[in-house]
Formats: sequence, C-alpha cells, structure tokens
Amino acid sequence: MLRTGCLLFLSLMTSAHASVPSVKVLIAKSLKNVTVEGMDLHKTIHTQRSKQQYYGRKSIVFNCQNNLKKKLSFIPRPLLVASLSSPTGLVSWGRHKYQGELQLVSQAHNESCDLINAIPLEAYITTLLSKEMNGSWPVEALKAQAVAARTYAYERLQRKNNGLYDLESSEKDQVSGTFFDATEKTLKASRETEGEILVGPSGKVSPAFFHSKCGGKTLRPDQVWGGVEEGYRSVNCTFCQKTGMKDWNGKIHNRKLVQMVDQVLKRYYSDAMADQEIKLMPDSLENSELRLYAGDRLHIIKKSYLRNLAGREALPSNNFIMSVKNKEFHVEGHGYGHGVGMCQLGALELAKRGYDYRQILSFYFPRHKIKTAYQQ
Ligand SMILES: [Zn+2]
Repeated sequence: MLRTGCLLFLSLMTSAHASVPSVKVLIAKSLKNVTVEGMDLHKTIHTQRSKQQYYGRKSIVFNCQNNLKKKLSFIPRPLLVASLSSPTGLVSWGRHKYQGELQLVSQAHNESCDLINAIPLEAYITTLLSKEMNGSWPVEALKAQAVAARTYAYERLQRKNNGLYDLESSEKDQVSGTFFDATEKTLKASRETEGEILVGPSGKVSPAFFHSKCGGKTLRPDQVWGGVEEGYRSVNCTFCQKTGMKDWNGKIHNRKLVQMVDQVLKRYYSDAMADQEIKLMPDSLENSELRLYAGDRLHIIKKSYLRNLAGREALPSNNFIMSVKNKEFHVEGHGYGHGVGMCQLGALELAKRGYDYRQILSFYFPRHKIKTAYQQ
C-alpha cells in the first residue's frame, strides 16, 4: 500500500535554472516526397546555405526520391537538408500541425527523407500526454506521466547525441502527438510540473520508464533489458487489476519454441542450441528468466528476449509463467507492456482514489526524487 505519511519525495530547486530546452523528435521515416505548409514560411536549405522567406500561405514540396539523391550524392549521410518554420509557431506536414520547426534529413543508401520536429520540450510533453495516456484522464495521473515522459526525454538530451535527432515518436521511445492532441488537461499537467524530472538516489538523471499495465508487479530495467539503472525496484501493484487487458494465455508449439530459443541464444547470448529437444525447468511469476535444458546443457534466457522475438500478440507482457501440458508449451500472463517503471493504468486508479502526482510517482519510483531542471 502507499505510505502517504512518509514520502521521501522532495522537490529540489536548482539554484540556477536553465531555460526550456528543445528536443528533436523523429516523426516519419523513408518519405519519398515531403510537403510542408504554413503561413509566412521561413525556409533554410542547409546544403546550399540559402535562406528564404515566403509571405502568406505557402506549400513547399521536396522530392526526396530523385532531386536529393542526384544533387547531393557525394555528401555523407545522414545530412540535414532543410529547416522550415513559421512566425505563427505552427508548420504543417499533410494533415498534421506541429509546433516548432520541421527538418528534413537525407539518409544514407536511401532515396528518401526522414522528418524531424524540433520542438520546445514543454510543448512536446503537452501533446505527448494524449498519446501516451489519454487527454481526458485525471490531471494528477497526467502530471505523473508528464514528469516521467519529461525525464525520459531530458535524459536523452543529456547524452552526447551522434545523430540528428534525440528521440523517435514510436513505442521504441515515446509516442508524441501533434498540435491538436493538446487538451486543457494536458496543458495544465505540463504547466504545473514544468521542468520537473526524476533523479535517482545519487542525484543523476535516470531514464524514467513507463508501460500500459503491469498486471500485479512492476519490473526493474535489468530484469527486462539487462542494463542496471539506479534506484529501480520491483513494486507490487494491485491498482491496475480491474482495468485494461485481462489476464491472457496461449500456446507455443514445440518446434516454434525451439526456433525462438535458438534465435534468442544467437542474438543475445552469442550461443546456440545444440539439441532440438527442450526440457523446461519449473517456472514461476517471480522468475524474469526461463531455465531450460537442450540435451544436457542448461540455458537461462530472459523472458523479455523471448517476447521480443515472439511479438506482443503472442506475449503481451513480460509478466508470464511458462509450463508444459501435453508436450506443448503454455503461457499464462498478466498485464500489457514491458512492465518497467510506472504502470499507467495503476496511476489512473491512484489518481481516481485521490493521490497526487508526487504520491503516484513515489509509489512506482520509491527511491527517486523530483527535481526542477529548468523553468521558463
Ligand atoms: Zn499495475
């Protein structure tokens, strides 16, 4: 249960506040043509070092398939080709409106462009909340999500970036929205937590992970991805029980499992299966790894690696147990998503019960603290 009386959460104000940083988000890949539209557009063609301003509404088409390839084939990739912005603060790509700037990048060995949105971090958080949660959820749940998502993005910004963007708008990182995804509640949630991020026990910014539904307990990053992040604990969460995806189960045929285990061993462990018969050791929900024999050799593989290969339809979460029935492998699981960090449906329930965002975050990140990294 929540220990609301002994919260270790502190809001540490830094002495000198930096201004709001900008984040570069990859919003689309491998485009053959890009049409950007806006009022009084400013266009910079970086490859020609030219700038141009248009007056009134203007639509500009970039043909990535032919023109860029021929004209710029001698320049190494990835290459920032063009930037477009408008004094109105909004630029459109197709039906989507974006705040900040749109940037076109030409990729190596690819007759196409990638599209990047360079956007102030606070605006990014405002639109993301509707995608990663739901813009109509209670404000305290959205505020908890705002801090977690901001931390994730901020941590990426701190890394020495060798590419032309910081994050992808996808489940790989976080799914960002467009201008129209912002709601009154998401604006309030980002405004009231402006600049707040989570730091680990050492005070270092640590990536804050979140997922849809833990199904009973959250997992540590090392249980899922192998890397240790400071401050994480596995937390028992009963708050998501009644919402979202029901407990799930399925079968994996013997031959399919042999194939998948072999692939997991090759991809993640520089190993392979010597035998085509698998003997599964007793499994439990507490185990984040499966123990199995191939011949007389014991292999220990992470359940999350098996999920990466099997796909989310076959294994919706990492919180599952595998057993053998009638010579077939059965899986029974709970929840949806990788299971690390904040359980979003649990956060929703906690907000409904009256917990504020600090209490929600302290439940899922009990050893982290909230720190204000910057202000307007
Ligand atoms: Zn949960």
